[in-house]
Amino acid sequence: MTEAVNKGASPAASSRPKRKQWNYRPELPLSVSPLFTLPWRPMEIIKWIVGAWFPISERLIVLALSLISWFFLHPSLERCKNFEFDWIAQIFLRNLGLLFLVAGGLHLYYYVFRLQGDEGRHDTRPLVKNSRQFTFNNQIHDNMFWSCASGVTVWTAYESLMMWAIANGYASTLNWSENPIWFVMLFLLLPAWESFYFYLVHRFLHWPPLYKIAHALHHRNNNVGPWSGLSMHPIEHILYLGTVLIHWVVAAHPLHIIFHLQYFTLTAATTHTGYSGIFINGKKRLALGTFHHQLHHRFYECNYGGLEVPFDQWFGSFHNGTEESHRQFLDRRKSF
Ligand SMILES: [Zn+2]
Ligand SMILES: [Zn+2]
Repeated sequence: MTEAVNKGASPAASSRPKRKQWNYRPELPLSVSPLFTLPWRPMEIIKWIVGAWFPISERLIVLALSLISWFFLHPSLERCKNFEFDWIAQIFLRNLGLLFLVAGGLHLYYYVFRLQGDEGRHDTRPLVKNSRQFTFNNQIHDNMFWSCASGVTVWTAYESLMMWAIANGYASTLNWSENPIWFVMLFLLLPAWESFYFYLVHRFLHWPPLYKIAHALHHRNNNVGPWSGLSMHPIEHILYLGTVLIHWVVAAHPLHIIFHLQYFTLTAATTHTGYSGIFINGKKRLALGTFHHQLHHRFYECNYGGLEVPFDQWFGSFHNGTEESHRQFLDRRKSF
């Protein structure tokens, strides 16, 4: 999907109409996957899938990191047969390093060295300092703390559990030599599964009691940065990363497990950059950041899911970013 720089666009209708709401908005209306739009348009479906992976995408980057993790930075399955401190610590440190590489790298790029200025940035309000709303009174420190202390711990716990289950034969293994087509298909299907699973979990997290004790922590971030993506309450991490338990039923290779968890954790950072992507010479070269989810952080009661499986469209909570859609959203909100 190509997006045009939209600086200077007139502000969308809002409860505060005089304030410019967005510094940058992608090409609108936001479009959802053509997979679920009838009649099927095969060329559009092919374009959507190929465009989501190639020539460069967060998916390909996470796949590359998963391959490096499995081949060079992973304990042997033999060691995973019994829960022991050393191999679990190895996975923890590697996951921590990966999160610093991706979230930390993007934070340095966008917010410390400001290599892109405000080009492609959705909301130019600064990340918050000196607010009691955040742990340590600082949004970045708060986000880093919850991402690392809770996020990486739960991520590592699930990964270790699955490695132990595969090593002992409690969960079945899928091997490249036995079924190469399904081996590849599992990678391709994961983004659609993520969109489906994330919607269900996220909708549940907006159930008021659960929102109050858990999800409100993620929503401290009305504006977001790369460290905000995985900044969640431990209950939310347990629910969100519980996605990988599907592999007790759906056979997978350890590489799929690693990719599955890295997809959920590392793309949490890349979808919360606060920017639409990496721009070079005025053109977006790598899509990072999702305006539809930025709308969720700003307005809460819209866009609970992703664009791959369009639940929001089906259940009437989709905000496509346009002024018309925003007016409809405000009307809906009055009736809540
Ligand atoms: Zn939410
Ligand atoms: Zn979020």
